[in-house]
Amino acid sequence: MEKKTLPEKLFLLSFKVDRTSHLILDKEACMRCPESERACLWICPSEVYKWDAEKRDIIVSYEGCLECGTCRIACPSGALEWRNPRGGFGVAYRFG
Ligand code: SF4
Ligand code: SF4
Repeated sequence: MEKKTLPEKLFLLSFKVDRTSHLILDKEACMRCPESERACLWICPSEVYKWDAEKRDIIVSYEGCLECGTCRIACPSGALEWRNPRGGFGVAYRFG
């Protein structure tokens, strides 16, 4: 069987997006977070977190979250409040 690449696998997912984010950042803690330690910016497989250099802020595109929980563990400051999306919302995985 042919192996799929990560982008190909991600393409198979579907999302039901809630109005509000299930990923809440403590922005003050993030502003104190040294650039070299901003794990959220490179560890997320879905690239949910992006640094906006102009606004000097982290943009959270929660709509594409895979609910893997990696960012919560990787954040060195515990600045991330991570909840499961409300029932019926979030990512839907397809297997096979
Ligand atoms: S790693 Fe944590 S504290 Fe640092 S920028 Fe990301 S969410 Fe904020
Ligand atoms: S839970 Fe996983 S996919 Fe969602 S934002 Fe965190 S690292 Fe990215």
